[in-house]
This record gives sequence, C-alpha cells and structure tokens, in this order.
Amino acid sequence: MQGAFDLVVKGGVVVGLTGRGQLDVYVREGKVVALEPPSRTMAASRTVDADGLLVLPGMVDTHVHLMDPGDVTRENFPTGTLAAACSGVTTIIEHTHGWPVTSPDRLAEKRAHLRGRSYVDYGLAAHVWDDAAQDISGLWRRGVSFFKIFTCATHGVPAVTHDRLSEVFDLLADLGAPALVHCEDDQITSASERRLHEAGRNDPGILPAWRSLPAELVAVGTVALLARLSGARVTIAHVSSPPVLELLRDEQLRGSPAVAESCPQYLFLHEDEVYEHGALRKFTPPARVRCTDDAQEMWRALNSGAIHLLSSDHAPSTREQKLAGDIWQAPFGLPGLDTTFRLMLDAALSGRTSLERVVGAYARAPARRYGLAGKGRLAPGADADLVLVDPSGQSLIADEGVHSKAGWTPYAGRAVRGSVVSVLLRGVPVVDNGRVVTAPSGQFMAGPGTVEED
Ligand SMILES: [Zn+2]
Repeated sequence: MQGAFDLVVKGGVVVGLTGRGQLDVYVREGKVVALEPPSRTMAASRTVDADGLLVLPGMVDTHVHLMDPGDVTRENFPTGTLAAACSGVTTIIEHTHGWPVTSPDRLAEKRAHLRGRSYVDYGLAAHVWDDAAQDISGLWRRGVSFFKIFTCATHGVPAVTHDRLSEVFDLLADLGAPALVHCEDDQITSASERRLHEAGRNDPGILPAWRSLPAELVAVGTVALLARLSGARVTIAHVSSPPVLELLRDEQLRGSPAVAESCPQYLFLHEDEVYEHGALRKFTPPARVRCTDDAQEMWRALNSGAIHLLSSDHAPSTREQKLAGDIWQAPFGLPGLDTTFRLMLDAALSGRTSLERVVGAYARAPARRYGLAGKGRLAPGADADLVLVDPSGQSLIADEGVHSKAGWTPYAGRAVRGSVVSVLLRGVPVVDNGRVVTAPSGQFMAGPGTVEED
C-alpha cells in the first residue's frame, strides 16, 4: 500500500549535536521530512527496523584523496567511496595532488570522468598554483567546494609563497570561498631535508627531523595571521599537536577566522611508531603525540571544539608501494576512510568523546564549513543520509576488512566498540548488514559559489 512517506526508520535512537532521543525518521523523495516519537505512527511504503540501534546523520569527510583520475594503482573512486560508505561516510570532498584541478576545464573533465563512479555524494576541491593567472573565481563559480593550498612543496605540488598566499586569501575572502591549507614552512623543511641528506641519513628518524614542529608552527602562524588580515575562511589542515592548537588559539583570540582540522592519526598514533613501522607511518605533518598526556590533550581539544572538524586525510598506497624504495622515496599518507568513523565511534562509546561530538566534528562542522547544504544533520529538509549503528557491536580492525585499494591499515589489531549496521544515501540503502546493496549512485555536490550557466 502506498503511504504518505517513502520510508520510515523506526525504533532507533536519533543522535544529534546536543543530545539524543527515541525518534522515528520519516523520509520522502530522499529527504528527511519528520522526526516523530514512536507513539505517533504514520504510514510509509517501506520500514527499516532500527530497534536497539543508534541513528546518526551520515558522516562528511572533507579531506580525501582518491587518485582518480591520477595514480589509480593507489586508489580509485569506486574503491575509495566503497570504503567510505561501508564505514558510515556518505559525503566526501575529494582532491588529488597528482591530477590537480587547477582550471575550470580540468574541473569539467574530472566531473565527466567521475560520473557513475561514486558510492557516496561528493564535492571536489581545487588546487591553488603559484601562478597569478590562475582562474580562481572561475573555479569557484563552476562549483569547487574549497581551495587546497600548500605552504611547502609536497607531493609534486609547489609551495605557495607568502606574497601569493596573501593575494589568494584576499580573493577568496571577496568570493566567500574557503581554503584548506597544508601548513609546513618550505624554507625550514627544505633546509632540514638538505642537512639530513648531507649526513647520509635514510632511517625512519628522518621524518620527525625533516617535518619538524617548528616548521609546522611557523607556517600555521603565518597562515592564521594572513587569514586574520584578509578575513579568508581558512581551515588549517591536519593539525598535529597541542602546541599548534595553542598558537592558533592566540590568533583566533585576535580575530583570525582560521579553524583547525585534525585526523585520527594525530589522536591515536604515536611519534615513535615510525621507528618500528617506517614508511607505513610516513605522513606529514607526522604524528607528534609521545605519551598519554599528549593524547589526552588532543582529546580535550576535540571535545572543547578547539579542533573544529575531523577528517581522514585519506591518502592511500599499498603496502608494496610504501615499502618499494627507501624512506625518502616512500609516498606520504595513510589510508583512513575505512577506519576514521569506526575509531571515533569506539572513542565515543568508551568515553573519550561523545557521539554528539563525533556528529558535530565529523558531520555537521565540515558540512557547514564547505556549504554542503542538506548534509551533516538529521532534521526536516536534510538529505536522508543515515548511519545505523549497533552500540553493542564489537569488532577487530584488520587489513582483511579494508575496502581501500591500500589493503592495509595502521590501526590493524585494535578492538573497537560499536558497528555500522546499515547506511542510507538519500533514503536508499547503500550498505545493509555490512553488505553493499547498490551500484554507485553518489552525486556531485556543487559548491555554494556555483553560478548556473545557460
Ligand atoms: Zn591531504
């Protein structure tokens, strides 16, 4: 019988930003229409039983590299977004350094290539190049979600000089366009690199020495200051440690609009792991947590909002690719889409943070920051992107369960509480009891600066 609604998710406990409640979620044409107490039953064509489950908005991961187009031996959109969907992430914003979107034509080419290749909804970010002729406002009008900027040469992307940074921030402030800035000082990292080479070093200890805390601090200080002077909506990418947050807080108190993004590798992994695991812990900035006290300070920062948003910074390589050369040659980055939500869920269920804070930092804040209307919240009018979680579930993170082409995870061997039972994208089940049940049906999400062309 045809009901007034397409779908009701019934019997679950809905988790929002500030609390939770026993509510049934009614969906029509892919959107949440009503949240009602169980006593108020209405007719719907389809019912999903959420008895004993938590119902969360789908997570929104805005710092993701899927190498497609690019080096698809490392990842591609189908595998990367499968990892996302299976772990409760229903929206991503993607950018790939090896195939950067630097012009409106490149954006159009990438959009055409990606049609039908994503299991989750996706936005695309552009790369700022050290080229004054780059058409930044054209990229914004054609629908990129944000602009990625490097203060140091990394992954083949050139460093943006302070002069260019200042000019770009002024332009972005005028447009109201957000930036995600990778902050490590180019002069400090280059000098350290040269000295380490001269000393003949190629042990894993080069990583913390090369990508040092002073290099990160100098860049964050400059970027947060230039954000204050320009008013640009800057996100400091992957903040590694409490001293960086402290520096940023000082700038925020002076009025800088810059906010901090951080990732599980800065909450869960320790600095000394690189000595044992080498290239399998090569990412930058590197892990800087040394002891439980450091880690606790990072968790406090997440819980207080000093860490504004979470992402995976998913940048996968296979184990073979990581270990093919020496530590200098190994690609930077970790796979993260398979594990970020599972780790945060475990952290919430074991009391280091709360589910409400996970929804805030890994769904609501990124969706707001990058203008993903309809994402990251569970309220009338929002997209019916839902994650159903069994809080009593338990599992072991293992390489075998990884959907990313990476095929491994730095978190293997960790027992985690809570499990993702099913995932819906705009009201359509994508994952059901851990099994994928649809073809890729993710849609491109144009950024908020999009101007429709006739
Ligand atoms: Zn990244």
